[in-house]
Amino acid sequence: MGDWNRRTVLTGIGAGLASATVPAMAGAGAPKRKLGYAVVGLGSYATRQIMPQFKNCEHSRLVALVSGTPEKLERYGAEYGIPKTHRYSYADYDTIRNNPDIDVVYVVLPNSMHAEYSIRASQAGKHVMCEKPMATTAAEAEAMIAAARKANRKLMIGYRCHFEQHNLRAVELVKSGFVGRPTLITAEHGFYAPAGIWRLDKAMSGGGSLMDIGIYSLNAARYLAGEEPVELVATEWTDKSDPRFKNTEDRIDFQLKFPSGLIANCVSSYSSGHNAFRVTGTKGWVGMEPATSYEGHQMWTRADGKTEQVKLPAPRKNQFAAQLDHLPESVLTGIPLRASGEEGLRDMRLIEAIYRSARERRAVSLV
Ligand code: NAD
Repeated sequence: MGDWNRRTVLTGIGAGLASATVPAMAGAGAPKRKLGYAVVGLGSYATRQIMPQFKNCEHSRLVALVSGTPEKLERYGAEYGIPKTHRYSYADYDTIRNNPDIDVVYVVLPNSMHAEYSIRASQAGKHVMCEKPMATTAAEAEAMIAAARKANRKLMIGYRCHFEQHNLRAVELVKSGFVGRPTLITAEHGFYAPAGIWRLDKAMSGGGSLMDIGIYSLNAARYLAGEEPVELVATEWTDKSDPRFKNTEDRIDFQLKFPSGLIANCVSSYSSGHNAFRVTGTKGWVGMEPATSYEGHQMWTRADGKTEQVKLPAPRKNQFAAQLDHLPESVLTGIPLRASGEEGLRDMRLIEAIYRSARERRAVSLV
């Protein structure tokens, strides 16, 4: 336990983790009121994962849509009962300031548009939920934080795993000393990125696999470690003859060194499927695969020479609904945000350091 006392106190996932029942307790104390969300960008994630979840929320409701495609506004407007007065094009986006039903703007656009649309939402006096990666550069992320602060509004990043019960349990197990002193984290994330998607265009994505999927390895390594890295080293492997990779990376692996001596070895790939992590310590390990998926998480632990699968009961709220409700809960009760803009900025700074390390072929000190 002594090691834990020396660890950095987190403001993120670790701080919200009083018990494994976090998703259930998250709404405790919040008045029974629902804040209104406007969803900006009606693409795959918004329409398939996010919008269907409002029905599972206690403090959030979908009240407005923003899209450049009139057919999408018509189709999803009809499906979710959003009146024409609450359907916006990008051209009239700023007029959301005149709509008191909109409390929160959820930015689910390609990465290069996150900063602009988040800042304009803050300037319109709205709270902001922005998808990961927070932005394409740390400078953009800083500007987003400044805009929210100036408007006296909240800014949260869509780190849904901070609200997923297996991830929360893994953090809790590590924190409780179950694995002993953690010595090694492995975190692997990747998928085969098909040609032609905006994720492979640096102008839209800000980078390759690291920006999109490797960020899960990075963020998980940090919340599992419960401390911030002091040094990192990264290596990139990109087959430049592969027409998919004109200006973004395929594989970029990185190693994070933490103050306690803990090492995290992380994989980020656009050419192979990975979704796993494991924290190994002096007494055992806790591992998950899939670890950060939308559903179907599987978890194992090993201690005293015995490997066991951990089965958790279905949570009262899944990760999407818990994430959506967290920002209103923070607005309504004043509880600190678990996935704040500052948390997103930490990842953006590390992402820049990872790219620098790979480019310059050297370790980068973070202190
Ligand atoms: P998508 O391509 O399916 O959707 C993007 C939307 O933005 C589309 O509706 C598109 O029409 C719109 N758009 C507006 N202007 C555009 C432009 N100039 N170029 C291209 N599209 C434009 O992408 P997605 O998978 O829904 O991802 C959107 C965001 O959500 C990304 O930042 C991504 O990282 C994030 N995301 C997060 C998760 C998660 O689990 N948290 C999962 C998927 C995506």
